[in-house]
Amino acid sequence: MSADHTMRLMDFLDKGVTASHAAAEAVAMLEEKGFKRYSERKGWVLPTGAAGYVVRDDSSVIAFRMGRRSPADTGFRIVGAHTDVPGLRVKPFGAYKKEGYKLLGVEIYGGPILASWMDRDLTLAGRAFIKSSDGSAPQTRLFNFEKPLCRIPQVAIHLNRSVNDDGLKLNKQTHLPPLCGIDDGAPFEMDGIRERIAVLLDCEPGDIVDFRLEVVDTQKAALCGFDGDFYSSGRIDNLGGSFTSLQAFLTASETPEETQVLALFDSEEIGSATLNGAASNFLDSILERLSGNRENFLRALAGSLMISNDGAHAVHPNYAELHEPKHKPVLNGGPVLKMNSNERYITQSAGAPYFINLCAQHNVPLQRIVVRSDLPCGSTIGPIISSRLGVMGADIGLPMLSMHSIRETGGVKDAELMIKALAAHFG
Ligand code: ZN
Repeated sequence: MSADHTMRLMDFLDKGVTASHAAAEAVAMLEEKGFKRYSERKGWVLPTGAAGYVVRDDSSVIAFRMGRRSPADTGFRIVGAHTDVPGLRVKPFGAYKKEGYKLLGVEIYGGPILASWMDRDLTLAGRAFIKSSDGSAPQTRLFNFEKPLCRIPQVAIHLNRSVNDDGLKLNKQTHLPPLCGIDDGAPFEMDGIRERIAVLLDCEPGDIVDFRLEVVDTQKAALCGFDGDFYSSGRIDNLGGSFTSLQAFLTASETPEETQVLALFDSEEIGSATLNGAASNFLDSILERLSGNRENFLRALAGSLMISNDGAHAVHPNYAELHEPKHKPVLNGGPVLKMNSNERYITQSAGAPYFINLCAQHNVPLQRIVVRSDLPCGSTIGPIISSRLGVMGADIGLPMLSMHSIRETGGVKDAELMIKALAAHFG
C-alpha cells in the first residue's frame, strides 16, 4: 500500500517538471474523478455536493467539494501546498555563443542548491503562449523536451584544487549558463528554440507569441536503498506536499459535512506575492464565492481549519548536530508538525493541537520539528494565509533530505501516512 502511494507520487514528480505541468497533472486527476472546471469570469451555481476546481494563471489550482451544511455553519476544511520548485530559468534573449559553445543565460528562481545542478543531464520545459485568432489573450500550452539538451559542467579538480575543502563556489552570472551545443557557425538565437517548441506543439513558430523556458533534470524518480526504504527525485519540495494533499482530497468523503478545499499555489519559493500565489486574493475569492455572501464568508473563515503541507527537514546522520535535540524527524516516521514561536510556521493557534489530536485518533505517527536557535527558520504559505484570512491552522510536511537540491530524498512510507491524516482532516 505504501509502495503504491509512493509509486504514484513518483509518477507525479516525473510529470510535474514545472509548476504549470504539476497543475495540469492535478487537473487531470481531478477531472478523472468527475470534478468540473469553474471559471472566475463566470457566475457560479453550487448545489450541495458540487465538486469543482479553478485554475489561475495555469500554475495554481483550487479545488472544492461542497459540504452538506453551509460553510457559514461549519467553516471550511482546507489543505494548502505549493506547485513551484527552486531552479534555473532561461532569460528572454538567453541564447548566446562563447568559446565555440552555444549557451543559455539563466536566472535563479527561489533558492536552489546550485552545486547540485552541476554535471547533470538537463532539459528544457515550460509554457508557450499561442496567438489567438480573434485578438483575445493568448492560449497557454505546455511543453517538455524530455531528452537531455544541456549541461552545466564543473571545472576539473586540476583547475580548482581547493574544491573539496572550500566547497564549490559559483558566480551566479558567469558559472551557471548551461552548455547546449558546439558552435557550428549558424546563428544561435531564441528564434531557433521557438522553432523547436513549435515542432513539439505542432504549430507554426509565428503562432508562438512568447514562451517561458525552465531548465529541468531529465532523471526520473527512483526507489533507493537495500530494501527500497527511500525514493529520490527532484521537486519533492513541494510536489510531495501537492500530491499527498491532492490524493487525500480525492479519497476523502464525497458527501462531507464541511466544505473541503484543496489549494495548490505557485510562487511559494519567491514569497507568494504574485497573481496566483498564496498572498494573492485567489483563495479568498474562491472561499467567498463558496460561502454565498460576505457575512457567510466571514463566519466561515472564523470556523475554518487549514493544514499547510510543505516539506520538513529529516535529520541527516552525517549532520545530526544541525537539528535541535529531541526534534529530529526521520524518514518513514510520518508527518512532521513544524513549530516556531516567531510564527514562521503557524504555532500559536489551536490548529496544531487539532492536528495532533487528529493523528492520534487515526493512528498516524506524528513527528515534531523546531529549528535550532542559532539557525534561521524557513517559512511556508501557512502564516501568509492564516494571517490574511484569520484562519486557524497548522504547518506540517513530509520529512525529507537535501531540500532544494536538484535531487531530494524521501521515505517510502510517509506519503501513505500523510494521506491518511489529511483525508481524516477533510472528513
Ligand atoms: Zn516548500
